[in-house]
Amino acid sequence: MKVAVFSTKPYDREYLEKANATTGHEFSFFETSLKPTTVKLAGGHQAVCVFVNDTLSREVIESLTALGVKSIVLRCAGFNNVDIEAACNNGFSVLRVPAYSPHAVAEHAIALIMTLNRKTHKAYNRVREGNFSIERLTGFELAGKTTGVVGTGKIGAAFARIMKGFGCRVVAYDLYPNKQLETEGVEYLSLEDVFKQSDIISLHCPLTPDTHHVINKQSMKLMKKGVMLINTSRGQLIDSEAAINALKKGRLGYLGIDVYEQEENVFFKDLSEMIIQDDKLMRLMTFPNVLITAHQAYFTDNALTQIAQTTIQNLSDIENGQLNEKNRVCMDMVK
Ligand code: NAD
Repeated sequence: MKVAVFSTKPYDREYLEKANATTGHEFSFFETSLKPTTVKLAGGHQAVCVFVNDTLSREVIESLTALGVKSIVLRCAGFNNVDIEAACNNGFSVLRVPAYSPHAVAEHAIALIMTLNRKTHKAYNRVREGNFSIERLTGFELAGKTTGVVGTGKIGAAFARIMKGFGCRVVAYDLYPNKQLETEGVEYLSLEDVFKQSDIISLHCPLTPDTHHVINKQSMKLMKKGVMLINTSRGQLIDSEAAINALKKGRLGYLGIDVYEQEENVFFKDLSEMIIQDDKLMRLMTFPNVLITAHQAYFTDNALTQIAQTTIQNLSDIENGQLNEKNRVCMDMVK
């Protein structure tokens, strides 16, 4: 199958080509993201292969239809960037990678927690400059603390288990509580009680109309003063403006984010010689108790291999007319 691959980085190409070695799909790799101004690059291909910050709005989907493209293959689990209704109405097959090493993301959430807490990033810089003072590097012990998990699917469950291993009390909120996790000691509470009782809150639910800005001025008022908030899910779960205000007031004690509301303009790009125009992001970067990574939680060798293999399988399934229902994105999932 001829596939236009958007938002390609060298590592995407490497892993996709390796996974495609015995399959023979034909790839055109484009560094640019898919958006209304680049959609014409998809001409002459049967499928587009996209990532988290590609735009598959109604406008783009209608342009793809006009170009004869019939399939959308996501190299990720989340599909909030796809207008599913438009895709379904235009007869597209939309396939994703629903599961790839949930440990990759769960463990990155732990890395954010441990770095913010024990300030290893600051210690590293100090020691390299010959400053062996440990003043102001005080942390807290995770054992005995309450960790709140919002969304206990594959990643949230892996995260909850690791936090149990640290000796935390783990409380959780999900529309569909996981019975197995309950038997392992995770307590399901209302979302409000998770916010009220937690010392650390980690977001692992998808971005939907219900979860958009689930962390806002009101919800942050419910939280313990000095709470640590971790987001490795999707940027728009947090109202950044409200988070900035809460950080300024000391209400939010720590913020660790791997995703950001307007990340599509910034993440995955080297802007080190540019004037960055995003004032909210620049303000967030000034806080000593904020740690930002650029959507790298998934970025392990294991996860990249699984993403590439599932993507190739999804393309072959489309070609053979045998879609894997587990990987298919359909209207029911967004209702
Ligand atoms: P999953 O589908 O296994 O789990 C999501 C869970 O959220 C489900 O249990 C679901 O019931 C729950 N949920 C849905 N709506 C909810 C709501 N309103 N409130 C509370 N819970 C709700 O997904 P997953 O594989 O665990 O991935 C979770 C999210 O992580 C993805 O949606 C994606 O946005 C994000 N993600 C980020 C990265 C990264 O690199 N930063 C990588 C992969 C996935």
